[in-house]
Amino acid sequence: MSKIHILDEHIANQIAAGEVVERPASVIKELVENAIDAGSTRIDVAVEEGGLQLIRVTDNGAGIDGDDCETAFYRHATSKIANGRDLFQIRSLGFRGEALPSIAAVSKVECISSAEDTGLGRRIVIEGGSLKTNADTNTSRGTDFTVRELFYNTPARLKYMKTIQTELGHISDTMHRMALAHPQIAFTLRHNGNTLLQTLGNGDLLQVIAAIYGTSIAKSMIPIEGEQLDYSVKGYVCKPEQTRSNRNAISTVVNGRFIRNYALNQAVQQAYHTLLPINRFPLVVLHLEMHPSLVDVNVHPAKLEVRFSKELELCQFVQHTIAEVLQDQVLIPAAAKPK
Ligand code: ADP
Ligand code: MG
Repeated sequence: MSKIHILDEHIANQIAAGEVVERPASVIKELVENAIDAGSTRIDVAVEEGGLQLIRVTDNGAGIDGDDCETAFYRHATSKIANGRDLFQIRSLGFRGEALPSIAAVSKVECISSAEDTGLGRRIVIEGGSLKTNADTNTSRGTDFTVRELFYNTPARLKYMKTIQTELGHISDTMHRMALAHPQIAFTLRHNGNTLLQTLGNGDLLQVIAAIYGTSIAKSMIPIEGEQLDYSVKGYVCKPEQTRSNRNAISTVVNGRFIRNYALNQAVQQAYHTLLPINRFPLVVLHLEMHPSLVDVNVHPAKLEVRFSKELELCQFVQHTIAEVLQDQVLIPAAAKPK
């Protein structure tokens, strides 16, 4: 008798869920990323009880074809890449085909979607990875995901959830990152009916900064812009006197994906150099564009950490671009600046 066997899809999904779905904020990240990939211009997120009771993400994107709705919940089912070559030029946020099966394995999911303008669509209900309903329904174009009772069937994971306030903090962080990365999308975040974030989706990054950090901070930010052979950068940096105690105030977005990269963070701080008081961090939002082959996003299941193939050049470019702008600020006091 052979002792080795392949785990059935049900268990495999629960194991994968452990990596992809750490907490309610991870569900929101995955569902919102899917909505962005679907070309949505409006994404509304509503949560109850820190997302543990309910998470609802509604978008006006391309929708899912009725016949694809069930398939979308299979492991490694994706419409975003087709072959190995595609892995080296990823332009979408998703590509692993892991989110939906993982979320559905550890919660009760309802997905209503339509890819048409006929008013007809599909409604799917999956609980703990088991399909309960797959039926036609009336709905407008776009997708509406509701995730209820996250981790209801994995009590060990549920036990690790922190207070509603902590989970909500992670959810807000996630939504801030999405909004900063996509000023052209109108986002809302509501918790138990209260609006926590609202962006206009008019493409203005400064408006998003205002929605997150407040209008007066947004007003004092300095725009930056730079370009060289491989990279271009655009964004806003704070004045040296407006640094913060929170090191997470450096936001870097690469090709529309919010990422964390240690070297890049260091480069930003280096640009402030002696202008930065000890243990203070700048508020910076950078949008970097580069050929997808210069960045490897397939490093981490949540795709937060990325690898740059020419990290040193990139860091020098970013540091130089910011330092130049800051130097202007310091050397030419605002009052003396030519109009
Ligand atoms: P991935 O995003 O890696 O492709 P997912 O499991 O997140 O994998 O989603 C599976 C597929 O379901 C996607 O490739 C996409 O075709 C479809 N899909 C999921 N969410 C949406 C949405 N909000 N709008 C349109 N299509 C969606
Ligand atoms: Mg996805």
